[in-house]
Amino acid sequence: MSAREEVGERATVRPREASPPSPAPKEPAPQTKGPAPEAPSPRLLVVEDEEAIAEGLAVNFRHKGYRVDLAADGEGALQRVAAGRYDLIVLDVRLPGVDGFEVCRRLRAAGDLTPVLMLTAASQPDDIVYGLKLGADDYVTKPFDLAELLARAEGLLRRVAWSSAGAGGEEGRFRFGDFWVDFKTYEAKTRQGVVELSRKELAVMRLFAERPRQAISRRELLAEVWELPHHPNTRVVDNVIVSLRRAFEESSWRPRHIHSVRGVGYRFEP
Ligand code: CA
Repeated sequence: MSAREEVGERATVRPREASPPSPAPKEPAPQTKGPAPEAPSPRLLVVEDEEAIAEGLAVNFRHKGYRVDLAADGEGALQRVAAGRYDLIVLDVRLPGVDGFEVCRRLRAAGDLTPVLMLTAASQPDDIVYGLKLGADDYVTKPFDLAELLARAEGLLRRVAWSSAGAGGEEGRFRFGDFWVDFKTYEAKTRQGVVELSRKELAVMRLFAERPRQAISRRELLAEVWELPHHPNTRVVDNVIVSLRRAFEESSWRPRHIHSVRGVGYRFEP
C-alpha cells in the first residue's frame, strides 16, 4: 500500500459524515404520468476494504431503500457478481489482491455491463482516465463528498432504469418515441436513419434521459455538458438543441420530445 493511498483513504473516514443517513429522504415521488410498474428496489454491491467507509455507504444506500451487499476485496466482488445480478457496483480502486481496475476490466471482458461507479484517488487523475477506459461509467474521487456520491449513484441507476424501460432491451440504449440513442457507441436512430451523434449532442441527450419531464436551464446544461457554469453565451446550447431537434423532431415548431421552457431552457418528454 502506498503512502498516497493511506492519506487519501484515511482522510475519507469521517464517521460523522458517513454514519447518519442523508437528510430528508424524499418520499418516492407519486407517479402521476404514464404506467408506473412496481419496480423492485435497486440492488447495489459496494466493494471497499475499509470497513468504516463500506458500512457508512451501506447505511446511506439502505436508507434510500436500496438493497446492499458488501465485498471487501476484488475476489469477493467477482464472486458476488457471478452469483447474482446488481443494478450498480460502487467499486473502490484500491483493494487488496485483485484491485478495482482489474475487477472492472474482468467484468467488461466477460460482457458484464453492470454500471460501475469508481472511487478513485483525487491525487491520481490518471486513475480516472484509466478507470473510464476500462469501462467504468462514472467516478467519484476520494475523499468523497457523501451527497455527491449518492447523487452519482442515483444518476447511474436512473440511466439503467431508462435503458431497460424501453423495448428491445439492448443495454445502454435509451429509447423514446420511434428513436433510440446508444450511449456506448454514440449512435442514434434519427429521422435521418442511424447516425453518429457528437459528444455534446450525446451528453445533452444523456442529461435528458436522466431527468425526463423536468425543466433544465441553459446554465445547467452549460455546467453539466460544457463544464462552463459561468459561460456568458448560452447560444452553444441552443445550437446543439437545433441539431437534436433536426434529428428527433418532425417539426421544431411543435416538438414532441424536446420542448422549450420559456426563460429557462428545455424539457424532455420521452
Ligand atoms: Ca480501499
